[in-house]
Amino acid sequence: MENLIRQAVARINERIEAACQRSGRKFSEVTLIAVSKTFSAEVVLQAYRAGLRIFGENRPQELRDKAQVLPDDIEWHFIGHLQTNKIKYVVPRAALIHSVDSVHLAQALQQFAQKRSQVVPVLLEVNTSGESSKFGFAPEAVEAAFAQIATFENLEIRGLMTIGPLTDDQQSIRRAFRQLYTLREKLQSQAPAVELPILSMGMSNDFEIAIEEGSTHIRLGTAIFGARGR
Ligand SMILES: *Cc1c(COP(=O)(O)O)cnc(C)c1O
Repeated sequence: MENLIRQAVARINERIEAACQRSGRKFSEVTLIAVSKTFSAEVVLQAYRAGLRIFGENRPQELRDKAQVLPDDIEWHFIGHLQTNKIKYVVPRAALIHSVDSVHLAQALQQFAQKRSQVVPVLLEVNTSGESSKFGFAPEAVEAAFAQIATFENLEIRGLMTIGPLTDDQQSIRRAFRQLYTLREKLQSQAPAVELPILSMGMSNDFEIAIEEGSTHIRLGTAIFGARGR
Protein backbone atom coordinates (compact mmCIF):
# COMPACT_ATOMS: atom_id res chain seq x y z
CA MET A 1 0.00 0.00 0.00
CA GLU A 2 2.81 2.37 0.91
CA ASN A 3 4.36 1.91 -2.51
CA LEU A 4 1.06 2.23 -4.34
CA ILE A 5 0.44 5.49 -2.52
CA ARG A 6 3.96 6.68 -3.30
CA GLN A 7 3.39 5.99 -7.00
CA ALA A 8 -0.03 7.64 -7.00
CA VAL A 9 1.40 10.76 -5.35
CA ALA A 10 4.28 10.87 -7.85
CA ARG A 11 1.77 10.84 -10.72
CA ILE A 12 -0.38 13.46 -9.02
CA ASN A 13 2.64 15.69 -8.47
CA GLU A 14 3.45 15.49 -12.19
CA ARG A 15 -0.09 16.55 -13.01
CA ILE A 16 0.05 19.39 -10.47
CA GLU A 17 3.33 20.54 -12.01
CA ALA A 18 1.87 20.44 -15.53
CA ALA A 19 -1.24 22.39 -14.48
CA CYS A 20 1.00 24.95 -12.77
CA GLN A 21 3.08 25.33 -15.93
CA ARG A 22 -0.03 25.80 -18.07
CA SER A 23 -1.20 28.59 -15.80
CA GLY A 24 2.10 30.27 -14.96
CA ARG A 25 2.02 29.21 -11.34
CA LYS A 26 4.54 27.58 -9.02
CA PHE A 27 4.28 24.01 -7.76
CA SER A 28 4.93 25.31 -4.26
CA GLU A 29 1.72 27.37 -4.39
CA VAL A 30 -0.40 24.22 -4.33
CA THR A 31 -0.88 22.17 -1.15
CA LEU A 32 -2.02 18.57 -1.47
CA ILE A 33 -4.49 17.39 1.16
CA ALA A 34 -4.88 13.61 1.28
CA VAL A 35 -8.56 12.94 1.94
CA SER A 36 -8.45 9.81 4.08
CA LYS A 37 -12.14 9.61 5.04
CA THR A 38 -13.44 6.03 5.33
CA PHE A 39 -9.90 4.62 5.19
CA SER A 40 -8.48 3.02 8.32
CA ALA A 41 -5.80 4.50 10.53
CA GLU A 42 -3.55 1.73 9.23
CA VAL A 43 -3.98 3.00 5.66
CA VAL A 44 -3.33 6.55 6.79
CA LEU A 45 -0.13 5.34 8.43
CA GLN A 46 0.95 3.80 5.12
CA ALA A 47 0.34 7.16 3.47
CA TYR A 48 2.32 8.84 6.24
CA ARG A 49 5.20 6.45 5.59
CA ALA A 50 4.91 7.33 1.90
CA GLY A 51 5.61 10.92 2.94
CA LEU A 52 2.19 12.54 3.26
CA ARG A 53 1.60 14.80 6.27
CA ILE A 54 -1.66 16.65 5.57
CA PHE A 55 -4.90 14.68 5.79
CA GLY A 56 -8.53 15.68 5.35
CA GLU A 57 -11.47 14.12 7.16
CA ASN A 58 -15.18 14.84 6.88
CA ARG A 59 -16.54 13.15 10.01
CA PRO A 60 -15.76 14.62 13.43
CA GLN A 61 -15.38 11.40 15.40
CA GLU A 62 -13.38 9.77 12.65
CA LEU A 63 -10.93 12.67 12.74
CA ARG A 64 -10.68 12.44 16.53
CA ASP A 65 -10.18 8.67 16.51
CA LYS A 66 -7.46 8.73 13.86
CA ALA A 67 -5.68 11.71 15.38
CA GLN A 68 -5.52 9.83 18.69
CA VAL A 69 -3.57 6.90 17.28
CA LEU A 70 -1.52 8.47 14.49
CA PRO A 71 1.71 10.51 14.62
CA ASP A 72 1.52 13.98 16.14
CA ASP A 73 3.12 15.74 13.20
CA ILE A 74 0.13 15.00 10.97
CA GLU A 75 -1.76 18.14 10.05
CA TRP A 76 -5.49 17.38 10.12
CA HIS A 77 -7.97 19.37 8.05
CA PHE A 78 -11.70 19.13 8.56
CA ILE A 79 -13.58 19.28 5.25
CA GLY A 80 -17.12 18.05 6.02
CA HIS A 81 -20.36 19.52 7.24
CA LEU A 82 -19.96 20.26 10.95
CA GLN A 83 -22.82 20.14 13.44
CA THR A 84 -22.39 22.41 16.43
CA ASN A 85 -22.57 19.51 18.91
CA LYS A 86 -19.50 17.94 17.27
CA ILE A 87 -17.27 21.00 17.34
CA LYS A 88 -15.52 19.55 20.39
CA TYR A 89 -14.11 16.66 18.36
CA VAL A 90 -12.72 18.90 15.65
CA VAL A 91 -11.37 22.14 17.11
CA PRO A 92 -8.73 20.56 19.36
CA ARG A 93 -7.22 18.67 16.41
CA ALA A 94 -7.87 20.50 13.14
CA ALA A 95 -5.29 22.89 11.72
CA LEU A 96 -7.94 24.27 9.38
CA ILE A 97 -11.71 23.89 9.12
CA HIS A 98 -12.61 24.22 5.44
CA SER A 99 -16.34 23.99 5.83
CA VAL A 100 -17.84 26.88 7.78
CA ASP A 101 -21.19 26.99 6.01
CA SER A 102 -23.38 29.11 8.29
CA VAL A 103 -23.12 32.07 10.66
CA HIS A 104 -24.73 29.84 13.28
CA LEU A 105 -21.82 27.39 13.06
CA ALA A 106 -19.32 30.26 13.12
CA GLN A 107 -20.93 31.60 16.29
CA ALA A 108 -20.70 28.22 17.99
CA LEU A 109 -17.07 27.83 16.90
CA GLN A 110 -16.31 31.31 18.21
CA GLN A 111 -17.78 30.45 21.62
CA PHE A 112 -15.91 27.17 21.86
CA ALA A 113 -12.63 28.71 20.74
CA GLN A 114 -12.98 31.59 23.16
CA LYS A 115 -13.42 29.22 26.11
CA ARG A 116 -10.20 27.49 25.11
CA SER A 117 -8.43 30.79 24.41
CA GLN A 118 -7.72 29.45 20.96
CA VAL A 119 -7.81 31.09 17.55
CA VAL A 120 -9.31 28.76 14.96
CA PRO A 121 -8.37 29.14 11.29
CA VAL A 122 -11.38 28.61 9.02
CA LEU A 123 -12.52 28.85 5.42
CA LEU A 124 -16.00 29.85 4.36
CA GLU A 125 -17.59 27.18 2.17
CA VAL A 126 -19.41 28.51 -0.86
CA ASN A 127 -21.99 26.57 -2.84
CA THR A 128 -20.87 27.64 -6.31
CA SER A 129 -22.82 24.92 -8.12
CA GLY A 130 -26.23 25.68 -6.69
CA GLU A 131 -26.73 21.94 -6.11
CA SER A 132 -29.18 21.56 -3.23
CA SER A 133 -27.30 18.51 -1.91
CA LYS A 134 -24.31 20.71 -1.16
CA PHE A 135 -23.67 22.83 1.90
CA GLY A 136 -22.15 26.27 1.82
CA PHE A 137 -23.16 29.90 1.54
CA ALA A 138 -24.90 30.96 -1.62
CA PRO A 139 -22.42 33.17 -3.53
CA GLU A 140 -24.61 36.22 -3.00
CA ALA A 141 -24.68 35.59 0.76
CA VAL A 142 -20.93 35.36 1.25
CA GLU A 143 -20.18 39.06 1.62
CA ALA A 144 -22.63 39.58 4.46
CA ALA A 145 -21.53 36.40 6.22
CA PHE A 146 -17.89 37.36 5.83
CA ALA A 147 -18.52 40.83 7.30
CA GLN A 148 -20.15 39.28 10.34
CA ILE A 149 -17.77 36.35 10.91
CA ALA A 150 -14.72 38.58 10.43
CA THR A 151 -15.69 40.31 13.69
CA PHE A 152 -15.42 37.05 15.67
CA GLU A 153 -12.18 37.42 17.60
CA ASN A 154 -11.37 33.73 17.99
CA LEU A 155 -11.88 32.81 14.34
CA GLU A 156 -9.42 33.64 11.61
CA ILE A 157 -10.91 33.53 8.12
CA ARG A 158 -8.12 32.35 5.83
CA GLY A 159 -10.05 32.06 2.56
CA LEU A 160 -12.78 30.19 0.73
CA MET A 161 -13.63 26.60 -0.12
CA THR A 162 -15.92 25.05 -2.70
CA ILE A 163 -16.84 21.68 -4.15
CA GLY A 164 -17.07 21.73 -7.94
CA PRO A 165 -20.32 20.77 -9.65
CA LEU A 166 -20.96 17.08 -10.20
CA THR A 167 -20.74 17.06 -14.00
CA ASP A 168 -18.45 16.18 -16.89
CA ASP A 169 -18.90 19.65 -18.31
CA GLN A 170 -15.44 21.18 -17.92
CA GLN A 171 -16.73 24.66 -18.61
CA SER A 172 -19.22 24.65 -15.77
CA ILE A 173 -16.57 23.25 -13.41
CA ARG A 174 -14.23 26.01 -14.49
CA ARG A 175 -16.94 28.62 -14.02
CA ALA A 176 -17.52 27.48 -10.43
CA PHE A 177 -13.82 27.72 -9.57
CA ARG A 178 -13.51 31.07 -11.29
CA GLN A 179 -16.44 32.32 -9.27
CA LEU A 180 -14.69 31.36 -6.03
CA TYR A 181 -11.55 33.16 -7.16
CA THR A 182 -13.53 36.29 -8.02
CA LEU A 183 -15.36 36.19 -4.70
CA ARG A 184 -12.08 36.02 -2.84
CA GLU A 185 -10.78 39.04 -4.79
CA LYS A 186 -13.91 40.97 -3.92
CA LEU A 187 -13.72 40.17 -0.21
CA GLN A 188 -10.02 40.95 -0.22
CA SER A 189 -10.58 44.39 -1.71
CA GLN A 190 -13.28 45.12 0.86
CA ALA A 191 -11.17 43.97 3.79
CA PRO A 192 -7.53 44.69 2.90
CA ALA A 193 -6.48 44.09 6.53
CA VAL A 194 -7.65 40.48 6.45
CA GLU A 195 -5.41 38.01 4.64
CA LEU A 196 -7.27 35.51 2.46
CA PRO A 197 -4.52 33.44 0.88
CA ILE A 198 -6.39 30.15 0.66
CA LEU A 199 -8.65 28.85 -2.10
CA SER A 200 -9.55 25.24 -1.30
CA MET A 201 -10.91 23.77 -4.52
CA GLY A 202 -10.27 20.75 -6.68
CA MET A 203 -10.84 17.03 -6.03
CA SER A 204 -9.64 13.90 -7.82
CA ASN A 205 -11.78 14.58 -10.89
CA ASP A 206 -11.20 18.29 -11.32
CA PHE A 207 -8.02 19.36 -9.54
CA GLU A 208 -6.17 20.39 -12.68
CA ILE A 209 -8.91 22.83 -13.67
CA ALA A 210 -8.93 24.09 -10.09
CA ILE A 211 -5.19 24.74 -10.18
CA GLU A 212 -5.53 26.58 -13.48
CA GLU A 213 -8.17 28.75 -11.78
CA GLY A 214 -6.03 29.58 -8.77
CA SER A 215 -6.54 26.81 -6.25
CA THR A 216 -4.03 26.78 -3.38
CA HIS A 217 -5.32 23.61 -1.65
CA ILE A 218 -6.53 20.54 -3.52
CA ARG A 219 -8.35 17.79 -1.64
CA LEU A 220 -7.71 14.36 -3.16
CA GLY A 221 -9.07 11.06 -1.91
CA THR A 222 -9.69 8.61 -4.75
CA ALA A 223 -6.60 9.65 -6.72
CA ILE A 224 -4.39 8.72 -3.76
CA PHE A 225 -6.18 5.86 -2.01
CA GLY A 226 -8.39 4.39 -4.74
CA ALA A 227 -12.17 4.07 -4.60
CA ARG A 228 -13.93 4.32 -1.27
CA GLY A 229 -16.09 1.47 -0.02
CA ARG A 230 -18.81 3.66 1.42
C1 LIG B 1 -14.50 13.21 -0.23
C2 LIG B 1 -14.10 14.63 -0.41
C3 LIG B 1 -13.00 14.99 -1.21
C4 LIG B 1 -12.17 13.97 -2.00
O1 LIG B 1 -12.91 13.46 -3.05
P1 LIG B 1 -12.20 12.55 -4.19
O2 LIG B 1 -13.13 12.69 -5.34
O3 LIG B 1 -12.13 11.17 -3.65
O4 LIG B 1 -10.88 13.14 -4.45
C5 LIG B 1 -12.67 16.32 -1.31
N1 LIG B 1 -13.38 17.27 -0.66
C6 LIG B 1 -14.44 16.98 0.12
C7 LIG B 1 -15.17 18.08 0.80
C8 LIG B 1 -14.85 15.65 0.27
O5 LIG B 1 -15.90 15.38 1.03
